[in-house]
Amino acid sequence: MRIGMPHAGNLYIPLKALFERLEVDYVIPPLSNQRTLSLGVKYSPEGLCIPFKLTLGNLIEAAELGADTLLTVGGYGICRLGYYAKTQEHILGDLGYNVKMIQLGVSEHKLFGLLGMIKRLSNNAPWSKIISAFRFGVSKLNALDRVERVVQKVRAVELVKGTANQLFAKAVSAIDRANDYDTLKRVEADYISQLDQITKDSRAQPLIVGITGEFYVVLEPFSNFDVESELGKLGVEVRRTTFISEWTKFSLFLNPLGINEKERIHQAALPYLKRDVGGDGWESVGEKVLHAQEYDGLIHLAPFTCMPEIIAQNIMPKTRENIPVLTILCDEQITKTGMLTRLEAFVDLLQRKRRAENNKRQRVTT
Ligand code: SF4
Repeated sequence: MRIGMPHAGNLYIPLKALFERLEVDYVIPPLSNQRTLSLGVKYSPEGLCIPFKLTLGNLIEAAELGADTLLTVGGYGICRLGYYAKTQEHILGDLGYNVKMIQLGVSEHKLFGLLGMIKRLSNNAPWSKIISAFRFGVSKLNALDRVERVVQKVRAVELVKGTANQLFAKAVSAIDRANDYDTLKRVEADYISQLDQITKDSRAQPLIVGITGEFYVVLEPFSNFDVESELGKLGVEVRRTTFISEWTKFSLFLNPLGINEKERIHQAALPYLKRDVGGDGWESVGEKVLHAQEYDGLIHLAPFTCMPEIIAQNIMPKTRENIPVLTILCDEQITKTGMLTRLEAFVDLLQRKRRAENNKRQRVTT
């Protein structure tokens, strides 16, 4: 059995650690790139959302490399995510790939369902081995996200732009290579310390911009032209609550115990949207309301044709908690130049707003 799976940011690194420890043959397709997108666009129904197209491209590239068992996401929610696995299976079959599709179904079956699936994929490996491999994979996931959180802060204030990104790329490789907990701990601490030592503009008071929107386009840099790095180059500190490590912690461990991290966000959205509209639409509205005091502005990433985010996009301008929101619709038609122009204009607007507020505050105190 040769397993393949679509990309979502750096998720392939913990998966690689997990499968290596279980001696499962894991085929990693190339990181999402222009060819992946072209393949996905070519073989997808036209109106489908970009996560479908890019993940289809990943699956085709994994099948080209010999993967015969493809893991893919699914869901029982009210958007088209629930149809991904079946539709992609049909398309791959029509293309002549003899592959077996396995829907992850984590939302329904939680931790035990996931561990049971890993047991089947690993040819019935002992539970002790599965749990140990799973723990190590989760530790890598947590380390990656902890380093990335520091990178988000440093990018905004580093004097030589790009330094934090270079270190992050090295940290990702080092975390990938780490073979035991001690090395992993050391690598994480070492890169966080190197990031702390980067020369920074001590007088900078960076704008704070939140990133919200649909889970996949928020987490897959190729789908959003690495918007976080671009904001960093413009001197903006990015805040994001969506991380795969957070999702794992809540979905697999805390939600089954009755702890729901989204309750606060849903409460915040309630005056404007009373129910789940599928995908992450409810959360996008809630994030705006919840963080309006804390952020200078919000970037809302939405796949083109994604109904949950279209609903959120239409509600956001009408909330009382008012901060500027820039919605970026992600699809194969978006160009980097177009996105950068909009980002620059948005940051310019936020800077003017910050200056006007500072002046107002000064006038009140004098
Ligand atoms: S939330 Fe939107 S982008 Fe994601 S699968 Fe559903 S419709 Fe597609």
